[in-house]
Amino acid sequence: MSTKQQKLRWGLIGASDIAATRMIPAINAQPDSTVHSVVSGNADHAKSYATKNSIPKAHENLETFLADPDLDIVYISSTNEKHREQALASIRARKPVLCEKPLALNLTDAREMVSAAAQASLPFGTNHHLRCAPTHRTLRRLVQEGAIGQPLAARVFHAVYLPPRLQGWRLDNPAAGAGVTLDITVHDADTLHFALGVKGNILAQFHDSFTVRHTSTGFEIHGTEGSLLATDVMTQEPVGRIILRRGTEVTEIDPGPVENLYAFAVRHFNAAARGDGHPAATGEDGIRSLAVALAAVESIKTGKRTKVQYEA
Ligand code: NDP
Repeated sequence: MSTKQQKLRWGLIGASDIAATRMIPAINAQPDSTVHSVVSGNADHAKSYATKNSIPKAHENLETFLADPDLDIVYISSTNEKHREQALASIRARKPVLCEKPLALNLTDAREMVSAAAQASLPFGTNHHLRCAPTHRTLRRLVQEGAIGQPLAARVFHAVYLPPRLQGWRLDNPAAGAGVTLDITVHDADTLHFALGVKGNILAQFHDSFTVRHTSTGFEIHGTEGSLLATDVMTQEPVGRIILRRGTEVTEIDPGPVENLYAFAVRHFNAAARGDGHPAATGEDGIRSLAVALAAVESIKTGKRTKVQYEA
C-alpha cells in the first residue's frame, strides 16, 4: 500500500465500458489516485484499451496483474459471472476491492466474497453509484429529518433505453447475469435502502426496463406528512430535481453541491483503502441489493410472491 504522500494505484479487472466512460476519469480526477493497470481475458483488447485510456500496464493474466507490488486497489467491472473468482483472487493477494454490481449471480457467492474481505480485514465496496448522488443524499436527509413523517410507500421509475453499444451480454447471455433485474433492480433496491434505511411495512414499486426511450426517471417516497418527488435522478449524472409536497404546499428542494457520482465513490474508497473511512456502499449493501433482485427474478419466473432471502 502507498504511503500517505503517494497516489493510490488502481488496477482494473475487466476492460469494460463502465471503466472507460466513468471510473477511469473518476479515479484519475482524484488528487490521491491514478489508474495503474488493466487486465482483460483478451490480450489485444487489454493492449488497445490501455493505450486508448492512457493506462501504463496491460495484462492478460490475473495472477501476473495481482502480483504487481505497485498495485494498491482493485476495481472489478468484468461480466457478472466472473466477479466472484476475481474478487477472491484479489483478496488472497491482499488488495482492497471495489466490485461492480451485481456482486455475483447468487447470494452464496456474494456472501463468500464479502466474508473473505472481512476475514482479511480488507475494504470491500459495491459500486452502487446512485447513493452517491447529491439528490439521493438529500432525500435520505429529508426522510431522516421527518420531512414526510412516516414513510409508507415508494415508487421508482428506472425504465431506460439500453444504448446500442451495451446491447450485448446483458440481452443474450444468461450465464453472465443478463437481464434488467440484475442490472437495474439492484440499483433501485440499494437506493431505496439508502434513502429509507431498514424500515418494514413500506410498499415499494419499481418500473425497470431497457426499452423505454422517451421518458425521465424518478424516485418517489410517500409518507404520512408529505411526499418527496424526485425526477431525472436514476441516472449516472449528478442532475435531477426534488419536490416536497405537503397538501397543496409545493416546495422545490435544493439538492446541494454537485459532485460526479463516480468521483464520490472513488473518493470514499480511497479513504477506506487508507484506513480512514468506508466505501460509499459496502459489500453488505451489495448482498442486500442482490437479494432483492434475485427475489424479483424468482417471482417473475414463478408468478408468485417471493420472500427476499436476506438476513443481516
Ligand atoms: P462491457 O460489456 O463493456 O465489458 C464487460 C467485459 O466484456 C469486459 O470486461 C471485457 O472482458 C469484455 N469486452 C468488452 N469489450 C470487449 C472487446 N472489444 N474485446 C474483447 N472483450 C471485450 O461491460 P459493462 O461496462 O457494460 O459492465 C461491466 C460491469 O459493470 C457489469 O458488472 C455491470 O453490471 C457493471 N456496470 C455498472 C454500472 C454502474 O453504474 N455501477 C454501469 C454499467 C455497468 P475482460 O473482462 O476479459 O476484459
